[in-house]
Amino acid sequence: MPERTESESRRLLRRLRDSLAAPGGGQDRLDRITHHIADSMRSQVCSVYLFRDADTLELCATEGLRAEAVHRTRLRLGEGLVGRVARTGRPINTADAPAQPGFRYMPETGEEVFPSFLGVPIQRVGEKLGVLVVQSREAREYTEDEVYGLEVVAMVLAEMAELGAFLGNEAQPSTHRFPAVFRGDTGQEGAAEGQVWLHEPRVVITNPVGDDPDKERARLAEAVAMLRQTVDQMVAETEMPGAEGEAVLEAYRMFANSKSWLRRMEEDIDLGLSAEAAVEKEQSQARARLESAADPYLRDRLHDLDDLSNRLLRILTGQGSDTGGAMPANPILVARNIGPAELLDYGRSLRGVVLEEGSVGSHAAIVARALAIPLVIHAARIRSEALNGDPILVDGDSGIVHLRPEETVAAAFRDKIAMQAEAQKMYAGLRDLPATARCGTTVRLCMNAGLMADLPSLEGSGAEGVGLFRTELQFLTRTRVPRRSELAALYARVLDNAHGKPVVFRTLDIGSDKVLPYMKRIDEPNPAMGWRAIRVGLDKRGVLQMQLQALIRAAAGRPLHLMFPFVADATEFASARAMLDEQLEREAATGRPLPTELQVGAMLETPSLAFAAPAFFRQCDFISIGGNDLKQFFFAADRENERVRRRYDTLSAPFLNLIEMIVARCDAEGVPVSFCGEDAGRPAEAAAFVALGLRSLSMRPASIGPVKSLIRRIDIGELRAVIDAARAAGETNLRPAVTAVLARASASASAA
Ligand code: PEP
Ligand code: MG
Repeated sequence: MPERTESESRRLLRRLRDSLAAPGGGQDRLDRITHHIADSMRSQVCSVYLFRDADTLELCATEGLRAEAVHRTRLRLGEGLVGRVARTGRPINTADAPAQPGFRYMPETGEEVFPSFLGVPIQRVGEKLGVLVVQSREAREYTEDEVYGLEVVAMVLAEMAELGAFLGNEAQPSTHRFPAVFRGDTGQEGAAEGQVWLHEPRVVITNPVGDDPDKERARLAEAVAMLRQTVDQMVAETEMPGAEGEAVLEAYRMFANSKSWLRRMEEDIDLGLSAEAAVEKEQSQARARLESAADPYLRDRLHDLDDLSNRLLRILTGQGSDTGGAMPANPILVARNIGPAELLDYGRSLRGVVLEEGSVGSHAAIVARALAIPLVIHAARIRSEALNGDPILVDGDSGIVHLRPEETVAAAFRDKIAMQAEAQKMYAGLRDLPATARCGTTVRLCMNAGLMADLPSLEGSGAEGVGLFRTELQFLTRTRVPRRSELAALYARVLDNAHGKPVVFRTLDIGSDKVLPYMKRIDEPNPAMGWRAIRVGLDKRGVLQMQLQALIRAAAGRPLHLMFPFVADATEFASARAMLDEQLEREAATGRPLPTELQVGAMLETPSLAFAAPAFFRQCDFISIGGNDLKQFFFAADRENERVRRRYDTLSAPFLNLIEMIVARCDAEGVPVSFCGEDAGRPAEAAAFVALGLRSLSMRPASIGPVKSLIRRIDIGELRAVIDAARAAGETNLRPAVTAVLARASASASAA
């Protein structure tokens, strides 16, 4: 960096800081600032454009263009060179602006006399605030140092804007005041109204300008040393991270030790930024690159860099995740992503969760489901807009989030919540009634669970038992393998709280998306079809044996129901069953009391098992269809891949034919069969399954009311006849036929 530019840049930044401290309104400040920048950059024009709303930029101050244009000239995102800088987040530097593609002539500004143009984004950690432009009469490109210098200035402007320096005199159209809508995807259905609670609140930088570069360099060096220490500690404390875990931690280490990252921040400091502003400038640029990076590996690494920058900022500013502010009354958690343990820490206080990333099968989604709170995933960029305490509406059914909603939107939303509450009241009235259809057939409705906290729903929902207790959450939320005694105590408490209603424990289903942080993970090209669930249990016998012992001890003196997940082959079930028998013998040999009754089932989650020999079915005490996995393998469509997930309908003839065949095979061998995938909780799907012969369904507790209510309104034989007729007519998708008959049934029930 040439010495001249360095000192000039520092002088300019000091002048900007003095403008910030000087009395006067926001407009006066901006006017003074544009004057200083034009002067320092030896340019005739300096203009500041700020976002008026998400799509419109407004000229808010200028030195050199016509004063009348201020607050009149507006551009849409992507329009003209200024709009292009805003959209791409990248500078444009040209000696011949009119020749540039997209150049827009704005006569009101008198712009035609300035051929050279340099525009840089004003952005703060990926949040776009506006564009800073200098123009000069002399047709020249600005030097690299000048571009860099202007980026540093833009960074300071962004910090000043964040501190509200330009508020008043309509100079700063705040980005955090307008309603904003985010369209994400459904992670968990339901609707909630509340206030934003950021999982990691923004760091506020109060001193973007550094007076003494040596001092700022020293502060940065000290903070980086501390960061390296925490990263090393993290590496040391993470037990058995496995190849992939190690690779991630190594990438962290690599960044924490990256010389070029450090060098760029030191250069920013030399140009006059404070240490924290330098960190944030590099973080902003990494975020801009992240937005355009398509390669998932590169995206992950840029995320690592982003996380490290956050840690570094928190070290430098002393601001932890805890802002000291009180959590609002109805908190809706907003985060980029969140782990299951962190989500559980918030516990039952949360009304909803909105994530920028996440996936339907992620651990966070499993926990949100267990907590029965709406979850919206893929709400891109919500963290740059949302501030703690902002009013927010979460519509988990449609995946839409309204931030700072207009009153009319909020009122309509409240109507929806009220209607749902009304429906819940109606469902509560059905709680003690059986799910008996008009034709007299009764269906057994159980609930799915995975946490101790789910058990009260057993009473509230009217479920007849727990048809699926997912045991992996206790493993996922710990930093080490839980002890046998801990598990036995927990399972015993689950049984105590079920008050005699049956609970089907599903043994550990790990692998695929459910990776334990402390277990060695092998790199698999296709983990969903890889080493998971019972495959891990049979190969690494220690953990499954320990879990089986814990289950036997928990159920001593009472019945034990358990099932093995992801059985793809009859021999796997036989081996797992033999392992259980060994544990029972061992327990008996030590004189411990055994369960009074044993029911051992297999989860049918792969098409292969539907075609197993009759003898296999006879070995099982029951079969539970894991429709989430079964459907993904039947259609070869990843359940977590949003592009393909919704492409294939559960109510398509081929999938329903498969379900019908499984039910028929179980019936033929006299083995009870139930269905415990998410589809069991969707009323139309549940009704179709019942029509095809299923008499037992297990679903999330909140679905029991709606499913029971529908079953009680229909005639199963009539629905079956409609399905058969549609299949005979060659329909591929039976949904239209099914929903038509269900709608008729509902209409005649409410008329009666
Ligand atoms: C299923 O696959 O349908 C199932 C219930 O198991 P999980 O969703 O936990 O994989
Ligand atoms: Mg499954």
